[in-house]
Amino acid sequence: MHRLFSIMRVFAVLWMWGLLVLAAYLSPVRAQEPFNPLVRVWLTRWQNLPLQITVETGGRASSKFAIYDIPAGETASVERDGTRLALRVADRSAQAEEWVIESEAPLAIADAQGNNRRAYRGKLMLRLRHGRLQVLNILPLEDYLRGVVPLEMPPSFPLDALKAQAIAARSWTVRNRHKHERDGADVCDSNHCQVYGGASAERESTTAAVQATTGMILLQGDLSVDGVYTADCGGQPGVGNNATAPPPDRDGSGRDYCVDNPQHYWSLGFTFSEVWRAAGGKESGQEPPNGEVDVQVMQTDGSGRATRLRLRRGDAVQEVSGVQLRRRLALPSTLFRVRLEQGTTVVFEGSGSGHGSGLCQWGAAGRARAGHSMEDILQAYYPGARMAPLSEVIWEWRRARKNSSVR
Ligand SMILES: [Zn+2]
Ligand SMILES: [Zn+2]
Repeated sequence: MHRLFSIMRVFAVLWMWGLLVLAAYLSPVRAQEPFNPLVRVWLTRWQNLPLQITVETGGRASSKFAIYDIPAGETASVERDGTRLALRVADRSAQAEEWVIESEAPLAIADAQGNNRRAYRGKLMLRLRHGRLQVLNILPLEDYLRGVVPLEMPPSFPLDALKAQAIAARSWTVRNRHKHERDGADVCDSNHCQVYGGASAERESTTAAVQATTGMILLQGDLSVDGVYTADCGGQPGVGNNATAPPPDRDGSGRDYCVDNPQHYWSLGFTFSEVWRAAGGKESGQEPPNGEVDVQVMQTDGSGRATRLRLRRGDAVQEVSGVQLRRRLALPSTLFRVRLEQGTTVVFEGSGSGHGSGLCQWGAAGRARAGHSMEDILQAYYPGARMAPLSEVIWEWRRARKNSSVR
């Protein structure tokens, strides 16, 4: 009797444990997991057919109407068949307007000759859009970032700089996810958005930085911060979307934190005609005599960047924005001074590289080496922002998603 009682007690305890485990699985605890939504990345590097897709551990390809198993180690080839895509695995072939290929392990894409192979986590979607091939990689945000951080910051940079970069890239993604709505995607894999190289690009140090900051973004008030970043701010971060610029990127002895960038200071010379043409002016045939040309910075923003320049050639005058001139002459930044040398050579002397706003990548590395934590680094480049889990702005993520055109 006594023994039976103790057996019943064991059962009762087991039953209760079972209930507890079930309850934990069903909701409140699961809601605490980091919010890790799917991101649709347009892989712009894959524009041409045919393509080969290798599925190491086996997987499947599905169209609207059918699902096909792809055996482990098998290569599927995708080619064009009129307005549809033909998928061929071994001796089987099927046509569809859109294919989704998925597998547990990363999928490898290569061109028809098997070159330029690159592996991606998550699913691949292949379709023809306006008659052209579009390849989308659909994968969780955290996996996407593992393929971004190593291409946006050297993986050899100190860990706290890499962690700050991971948070900036995550915040940027949350804020800029609508960039490719019209293309039926969230972001692209080029430097138009953030450079993304899939699982092939991942490095141990950058993956550790993504994992150490899982789900964390920057908020200002209740809104996500546009986590822009720049290679080198030149010693003075740009104004970005704010009215005022953050404090100079300089330590107590007046040394720029980003000075270790080998191209921190630069100087470039052009003929006056080159600058005149770059500013949009028509060529008038021959060079004017010395002394008849002039170039000046007319206006700077709160960070000292040239926003407006004026060029004079005899009686003709034209103005150009600093951003435009930077792009057309491939100047590293708009943080420069300009002068005329020997009458007709225009010399730009500046510092930094990139638009200059947000996180300064070389500066983040310099600060980390000087002992600054990830939090200190973020505070320097996004003053007033606070770190918070992405789940705090879940509504922001979902709202933008609802407006997107293609799912
Ligand atoms: Zn883009
Ligand atoms: Zn800097």
